[in-house]
Amino acid sequence: MYTLPELPYNKSAFTPFITEEGFDYHHGKHHQSYVDKLNGIVQDTELSELDLFELIKHGYNTDNMALFNNAAQHYNHWFYWHCMSPNGGGRPQGRVADLIKRDFGSFDQFKDLFSDAAAKLFGSGWAWLVLNENGRLSIDPMKDAHTPVAEGKCPLLTLDVWEHAYYIDHRNQRPKFIEGFWDIINWDFVDLNLEDTNNV
Ligand code: MN
Repeated sequence: MYTLPELPYNKSAFTPFITEEGFDYHHGKHHQSYVDKLNGIVQDTELSELDLFELIKHGYNTDNMALFNNAAQHYNHWFYWHCMSPNGGGRPQGRVADLIKRDFGSFDQFKDLFSDAAAKLFGSGWAWLVLNENGRLSIDPMKDAHTPVAEGKCPLLTLDVWEHAYYIDHRNQRPKFIEGFWDIINWDFVDLNLEDTNNV
């Protein structure tokens, strides 16, 4: 039985960039709905023996899109909430900063490429910064519920660019939403995700 995880900050932490109403819908209704649908699919079936990562991979590999979409969206949203912090923003330090410089040339170049990928993703999806199996960083725009964990890539950072992520607070202005994200990125979380890997 999956439950909606608490936000790791107060709902007013990013007002007015993301308002309480924005979180009430995005976290309280959209994320909740993925959790409820996932439970409806998994409960009282042999799928309940699998953990969330196994469910994502099983849905992906067997083309069970209802399972994949809801399991992946539950994971993606959990991950996304942690990508933001009231103490976030600025520039990363340490290992992640070194890797960004190595693989994108500079932080500013990375910022432009990531923002561009997020802005140009047509329809619904996520902009991801991932660590590939070859130990290099890449920016992967992914449609709909798609998630690096289904493809053996390690997620480091994500931005939700489904319209439901910004419509309440920014209406149709996705680029404005993307720009504001840089002020609240939780680089400590990105660093933690990097520490969880040993293939760099
Ligand atoms: Mn969302």
